[in-house]
Amino acid sequence: MEKRQELYAGKAKSVFATDDSDYVVLSFRDDTSAFDGERIEQLNRKGEVNNKFNAFIMQYLSDAGIPTHFEKLLNANESLVKNMKMIPVECVVRNVASGSLVRRLGVEDGMELTPPVFEFFLKNDALHDPMVNEYHIETFGWAKAEDVTKMKALTFEVNAKLKKLFADAGMILVDYKLEFGLFKGEVILGDEFSPDGCRLWDAQTRKKLDKDRFRQGLGGVIEAYEEVAQRIGVPL
Ligand code: 5GP
Repeated sequence: MEKRQELYAGKAKSVFATDDSDYVVLSFRDDTSAFDGERIEQLNRKGEVNNKFNAFIMQYLSDAGIPTHFEKLLNANESLVKNMKMIPVECVVRNVASGSLVRRLGVEDGMELTPPVFEFFLKNDALHDPMVNEYHIETFGWAKAEDVTKMKALTFEVNAKLKKLFADAGMILVDYKLEFGLFKGEVILGDEFSPDGCRLWDAQTRKKLDKDRFRQGLGGVIEAYEEVAQRIGVPL
């Protein structure tokens, strides 16, 4: 597989073409952004930790029967993935109230959510990723109704698998964001799953082990990511 020209540079990852149009290379950079890209800093080792973390989780989900874009780790910072047409919508599941849910609805931070809450957001930094619903997605042509149903079902399947994985390692999966795309007409999981796009708390102490450490200036960001990785058995 030959890596070719850069196709796209996102806030934390870049995408490169390969000599096979069905595959692209995802390159995880050390750039760390918050507040819709308003704050960007370099965090040493972040690209490598997230690449390896994501590879572990994507493989875990694939083995559990969830279709993903992940093919293989290429090196410390890069993975080979399927070249999908991304659906510009973020799927969020919340098991515990935190973040924007608390700000929006005034509910208590840390409140357990039964059943878990599902939300869609439009991927659009200029509009600050506004919340949208199934009607917006279908009416504006971001995805077909049947694909919206599929994304939602897959996001809940991921919840069942990952809640247990993290609980078994003494952590609470508070919430997370997933992105999907279409590959040969099928909805599959894309983007990444890492502590950049989820909230993880230590089950005993409720210490934050995710990107909220960066957003809230708590320090020890990468050390926390490495602790999570080590606890679930990601080879770093
Ligand atoms: P909230 O809506 O509370 O800000 O985020 C809910 C969950 O989705 C959190 O775990 C957060 O990290 C993740 N999330 C939501 N939007 C984004 C985004 O644009 N980028 C990243 N990295 N994570 C996001």
